[in-house]
Amino acid sequence: VERSGIVTENRVPNDAQFGLIKSLYEHKHVLITGYACHMLSLWISWSTSDNSFFYAMLMVATTFIICLRYWDMCLFSNRFDGRSTEDIDVIRSWETRYMIGSGMISSIVGLNSGYSLFVAPFSPASLVALCMSFSSMISIVGRNFGSKRNVRLLAILNGFPCGFGVIGYGIVHSDWSMGLFGLLILPVTMITDSLASFCREILLKSIISERGWQRMSAVFDAAVSNMPTGMIMVEHNNRTIVMMNEIAAKNLGLGNSPRLIKSHVDELVDAVSQAARYSEEERKVVKAAVDDLIDGRTTQKVFQAPDGRYIEFITHKVTPTTDRRANRKTKFAGTVILCEDITTRRQAEHANWQQARFDYLSGLPNRQYIVELMQEAVNNLRDDRVIAFCQFDVDGFKLINDTMGHEAGDEVIAKVAGKMREIQALDDRVLLARLGGDEFVIVFKDLLPHEDITALFNNAFSRICTNYMIKNKRINVRCSGGVACSNRENFDLDDLMRKSDYVLYAVKHNPKRPVDMLWGHFSKEIEAEYLSKSEMREALKEAISDGSINVAFQPVCRPDGTIEFCEALVRWNRDGHGVVDPTEMIKAAEDLGMIQNITRQVLAKACTECAAWDFGIGVSVNFTALDLHQTDCLESIKEVLEATALEAHRLQIEVSEAVIMKNIARVTPILHAIAGLGVKIVIDDFGTGYALLNYMHQLPLSKVKIDRSFVKNISADEKMQSPLNALIELSSGSDFDIIVEGVETDTQLNAVVKGQRVDLIQGYLLGHPVSGEKIREQLAIMAATKGGSLVRLQNYLPKSDNPPRLLPSGKI
Ligand code: C2E
Ligand code: MG
Ligand code: MG
Repeated sequence: VERSGIVTENRVPNDAQFGLIKSLYEHKHVLITGYACHMLSLWISWSTSDNSFFYAMLMVATTFIICLRYWDMCLFSNRFDGRSTEDIDVIRSWETRYMIGSGMISSIVGLNSGYSLFVAPFSPASLVALCMSFSSMISIVGRNFGSKRNVRLLAILNGFPCGFGVIGYGIVHSDWSMGLFGLLILPVTMITDSLASFCREILLKSIISERGWQRMSAVFDAAVSNMPTGMIMVEHNNRTIVMMNEIAAKNLGLGNSPRLIKSHVDELVDAVSQAARYSEEERKVVKAAVDDLIDGRTTQKVFQAPDGRYIEFITHKVTPTTDRRANRKTKFAGTVILCEDITTRRQAEHANWQQARFDYLSGLPNRQYIVELMQEAVNNLRDDRVIAFCQFDVDGFKLINDTMGHEAGDEVIAKVAGKMREIQALDDRVLLARLGGDEFVIVFKDLLPHEDITALFNNAFSRICTNYMIKNKRINVRCSGGVACSNRENFDLDDLMRKSDYVLYAVKHNPKRPVDMLWGHFSKEIEAEYLSKSEMREALKEAISDGSINVAFQPVCRPDGTIEFCEALVRWNRDGHGVVDPTEMIKAAEDLGMIQNITRQVLAKACTECAAWDFGIGVSVNFTALDLHQTDCLESIKEVLEATALEAHRLQIEVSEAVIMKNIARVTPILHAIAGLGVKIVIDDFGTGYALLNYMHQLPLSKVKIDRSFVKNISADEKMQSPLNALIELSSGSDFDIIVEGVETDTQLNAVVKGQRVDLIQGYLLGHPVSGEKIREQLAIMAATKGGSLVRLQNYLPKSDNPPRLLPSGKI
């Protein structure tokens, strides 16, 4: 096995063997010439020896044998006319036939000289015969070395009779010098044999090595022509192309034939430039790039062909000393250039690049890419310029999705994005992005300090917030946005995002928002508020890690006045600021990613408290989407139940309808898993999350709590009660209990209990949220004063207009 990995053989291959045999049979003219020489020599011998019968016989025999051999040669030609064989038996049989023929001729030559020398060594006949013998021996070396057996036989038949003839003469005539001369002739035969062997060995070596090279070159050729990569080899000395495969020619736009082998590399550049119709300038660029590659100034380059294909060139320098594999110096010193068509790879890379940076639906840059674009914009921002960052979303986008379907929602996103692109087309300072959902970004980079930002964004929003035809319906899209600005020095993208998001939220939740108010600016006033919220967040972080978050409990009663369970509500008494609004605090904790810490603390405190209550009163804990999506959500509930030894059925998890609706597919299995523990599931704020009714049968619900907005407007006016009644009507008849929350007045209470379809009531009228301690006190008092049973509400309802309350607000 050669180092190159190409296998070569050490014996003469059969086909080469055949070649040698063929060479013996091939040259009929040599046979004729030989015949003429033999006949001439025999004739000389015959005529100078008084027409000896012996020579005449030899002439006849020679003629006969030559005819036979000629006939045999013709047979060979007919049999192998342009064909070859590798069948060694056939080859050997033809070799034997040849040996017989040539052997017979050699016998005649040997006989001639042996006889002539024995009879009259100094006669012309002897001289001619000796000449013939020796010249035949030389021709044996020259022509018959291919067959070892043949050479030996012919040498013996030719040489030995001469020697023996002279020795015989010496013995008969007692001439010791002639005897010695005869002995000297014998080694000539051996010399002929070894000379032929020597020639044969050289020939074999050359045949074997040539065949090795042929094979290697065939393998190399096959490898080079079939490799998927183009390959060009350029010699350093004269910058000549010594190898170039078809793929290389094709990749270079030169068609399929690598015609430029042995051409100068500049001719290649010219041919490529001509094929690509490059201008002189472009040709120079290509030439410079090719020189860089060949001279090793660069080892990789990618060109784009005029037809759009990308061709990558990778070079490898070969110096005579670097071919360590071959363990010898290579003669080739130059550059191997691999050229590959990487268009598909480039396209895939580009597609990946696009995918990673652009949002598929809107075609706008995504959240990650806008970060890059912003950074780039800031890097190029002049010190006296400003960058204005605006985040906005579509008002009521969820409603569009829920009522018209997700396709309609997608259409809105695509159309809004289209309008955004129109703005960008008019102003090259605009950057756009879709952050996800219905959240978008518009940035004006490089603004002059005195530039009218209000006009810019008013114009942008008036373009975006317009009527769109969505699924053949005219929809008026309104947005809410927040704008925050920065200069280069103070730039912090996270800060800009937080500020603009803060303004967006403020705009969206502004109860006094005028219809034409679409966006807000992060003004000085807002900044003060923002900073105070930021401080609040910092304080909240500390409170969460200190564990100084408290829990209040609000009773939820049956219509008969008995308490079914208490809802655990988080309370944080911030130093110097009083109790922080829980809704605000929950949002802040969600933003900080710390809501789970709060939920875990509330859950633990609620379960501990509940375990101490009599009458099997349960506790209800509020969970957010983030809580449910925690991988250890189920484990945390299990752990708390075990740690507090609370029976699972006394614990309830309250999840707002909006949270469930946002990702019903993901939430459903989690709720089932929680219900599987024996824990009850309550839907909170029911009636605000749209259309959950359709999915309620899939959920393991124990109770549904109708949002307090349905109770808020209830007055004596019967008409105002209809939404509540409609919702109660829809929910009644199901397996779950109906809770009505937010009952503050007797009128509301009367309206709620009327019809007896509400199972549970919660509200300030029945009890404010109070500390765990107070709940325990009240339960103890009630148990003591009423003999262990709770007083019934029903006794007082709804007979009078102003019934005495069993559970005055604020105190149980
Ligand atoms: P929610 O779960 O709907 O809780 C009921 C809210 O209504 C409580 O407000 C409660 O004090 C209030 N409320 C009860 N009765 C009446 C009434 O008659 N009239 C009026 N106007 N309000 C009444 P709170 O404690 O301010 O909590 C607000 C919201 O904050 C809760 O709404 C809940 O969504 C969230 N929240 C409170 N505690 C937690 C908690 O521990 N974890 C989570 N994730 N959210 C909580
Ligand atoms: Mg609740
Ligand atoms: Mg609620």
